[in-house]
Amino acid sequence: MNIKNYINGKFVDPIDDEWIDNFCPGNGEIYGKIPNSSKKDINKAYQAAKKAFPAWSQTTLEQRSRLLIKISELLEDNLQQFAEAESLDNGKPIWLAKAVDIPRAASNFRFFANAITQFASESHESVGQDAINYTLRQPIGVVGCISPWNLPLYLFSWKIAPALAAGNCVVAKPSEVTPMTAFLLAELCMEAGLPKGVLNIVHGLGSTTGQAIVAHPDIKAISFTGGTATGAHIAKIAAPMFKKLSLELGGKNPNIIFADCDYDEMLTTTVRSSFANQGQICLCGSRIFVEASIYEKFKTDFVKKVKQLKVGHPSDPKTKVGALVSKPHLEKVLDYIRIGKEEKGEVLCGGKQVKVKGYEKGYYLKPTVIEVPTDDCRVNQEEIFGPVVTIMPFDTEDEVLKMANKVEYGLSATLWTNDLKRTMRMSKQIQAGIVWVNTWMMRDLRTPFGGVKNSGVGREGGLEALRFFTEAKNVCIKY
Ligand code: NDP
Repeated sequence: MNIKNYINGKFVDPIDDEWIDNFCPGNGEIYGKIPNSSKKDINKAYQAAKKAFPAWSQTTLEQRSRLLIKISELLEDNLQQFAEAESLDNGKPIWLAKAVDIPRAASNFRFFANAITQFASESHESVGQDAINYTLRQPIGVVGCISPWNLPLYLFSWKIAPALAAGNCVVAKPSEVTPMTAFLLAELCMEAGLPKGVLNIVHGLGSTTGQAIVAHPDIKAISFTGGTATGAHIAKIAAPMFKKLSLELGGKNPNIIFADCDYDEMLTTTVRSSFANQGQICLCGSRIFVEASIYEKFKTDFVKKVKQLKVGHPSDPKTKVGALVSKPHLEKVLDYIRIGKEEKGEVLCGGKQVKVKGYEKGYYLKPTVIEVPTDDCRVNQEEIFGPVVTIMPFDTEDEVLKMANKVEYGLSATLWTNDLKRTMRMSKQIQAGIVWVNTWMMRDLRTPFGGVKNSGVGREGGLEALRFFTEAKNVCIKY
């Protein structure tokens, strides 16, 4: 299926009529073309957004809220179609797209539709000076949203919903690898009655289309989720123009398991936190540290469970691990497995490609567990972003804390323990934007989301997102 750009309320071809192949990870075949948009297309989208902005920013909160709720409802009504498209495009099991990705995208619209109606600003009375200050929270204007391929609609909507709710107009680009659900979303926006030009979705390569959004002098804020190297590149381009930036970047998250945890629950959740979405979630616990007294037991039980995970075609309801998103990505992950072996890591299970019957050209990989000899080897330090985890034992809290923090990233961490004092101590000291204790990826949309160190700058979620997508202006009145 060929897709088009959505600019000024219409589906249009790219100006230069250039197209890119879209591959299906499940069978490795081309199944459509997407626009290879240029600077000209981004400028066209910007012009449409600029024209729409004055009217959109003046809509009442209720009008905006209703529209976003309508989009959310339409997504729910079209769950099956969206889940199929997401699974086909990304390689994730269809049940996962149906249970998590698409419902969460609908929740994102509903959440920000409600949040904007509760978004209050402050006032400060300057006592003794007969003056009052109040803060206006004004939309920025035209903003850019750029999202990755791992959770396509989930993360796309996580950006555009607060941007629109706050009264901005948007030029957005999904990953060229997974453009389908953003394309389908445009149809729903039309059906919901979103005014033309308020949201513009332009498809194409990161290095051209994405970069044109970042480099556009009049797109004043960029919300980006993707790799750390891309984030650094974007920051360099945006800095001389003093753009507002929110950067949600890579992770290499520790999963720290103490002997006093609820073992069965930990084991089940650790399988999920390691391999959900083929391990292609920035929050996956890719470094597993286990207290020495239960290490051997854990190793045996974990590997046994991992071997049972069925690798299969994304449309098969029994599939637990689907296809990786692309051939280059599969090759990158395989390369890391090779590096792990070279570094004297022992592959306890997986480590190989899988040929799924009938879909031999698909990008399948067995879930892989590597026992590493030290924490500073490359597979334990660098983001692999696939179905590969490392495991190693630790003796003391201090030791594991040092290892957990000894990476360039700081996105999330998981702790398994029933010791409250230890929980409090460690949660304070772990360098991460999110710490889960005795759970993983439990998300409350009101909470701040983001990373420290090379995992990013800024926070999304709840009021943080609405703050990012508005400028605060102080008005001081002497009476
Ligand atoms: P990339 O950084 O390659 O791409 C992210 C997005 O940026 C894509 O839309 C991409 O387009 C675009 N892009 C690429 N180059 C540029 C550029 N020069 N200027 C502007 N845009 C550009 O990341 P991936 O898509 O490979 O996603 C995986 C990464 O995302 C992992 O590192 C993961 O940890 C991180 N991530 C972080 C999350 C967080 O919340 N912190 C959540 C999810 C993922 P295209 O794909 O078309 O090249």
